[in-house]
Amino acid sequence: MRIVLLGAPGAGKGTVAKLLTDYDGSVQISTGDILRNAVKAKTELGKEAQGYMERGELVPDKLIMDIMEVRLREPDCTKGFILDGFPRTIPQAEELKKLLVKLNLKLDMVVDLDVPKDVILDRLTTRRTCSNPACQEIYNIKSKPPKPDGTCVKCGSPAVQRADETVEAITKRLETYNEKTAPLINFYRKEGLLKTISSLSSEEIVSQIKTAIKQ
Ligand code: AMP
Repeated sequence: MRIVLLGAPGAGKGTVAKLLTDYDGSVQISTGDILRNAVKAKTELGKEAQGYMERGELVPDKLIMDIMEVRLREPDCTKGFILDGFPRTIPQAEELKKLLVKLNLKLDMVVDLDVPKDVILDRLTTRRTCSNPACQEIYNIKSKPPKPDGTCVKCGSPAVQRADETVEAITKRLETYNEKTAPLINFYRKEGLLKTISSLSSEEIVSQIKTAIKQ
């Protein structure tokens, strides 16, 4: 399948994307993960992106499109892809449309994960992420805790709070989402690709996506 997951930070895009990759071998492409790995590895991209990310702002569109143009041409994308956190702005969506025409590919669907703001805030402040770039399992200290010593159940690396999960950065990320990313809902509605899902359960969301894809 080739889908875009839209939704505010904390809406569950990463968790849903991981479940979908298990379903049909489509790859998860998370621009946030790519950028965090670049920051950790101190690459040129990472150095450029770090300040924006820590402030809860968006990284410039040009940097993101350069990453995505390379990523979508990689051979593993032929099985399908789940775009998690991209596009994030109208210009990115316009550029993605052109890129897909160039690659002779079509999106199956754009899923908007619609989650109430109080749930989002609670999820983001209680989220922990495995610090091992090859794992990045997502935890929640209330509903899916890491091991009692704070390490990842899967790989044993420390599960940590992301640098952009302070209250200030979260507030800024939500403002950025409302201003820059929420307009994509109408963009994709006009394209006839939008499916809105309001469930809070990732299993239920995945099941609704699978059913819609089969139709
Ligand atoms: P995420 O993990 O998707 O919440 O992304 C974390 C941070 O990475 C965001 O707050 C942005 O600073 C940056 N980022 C991720 N994806 C994009 C994108 N498509 N466009 C611009 N910035 C992005």
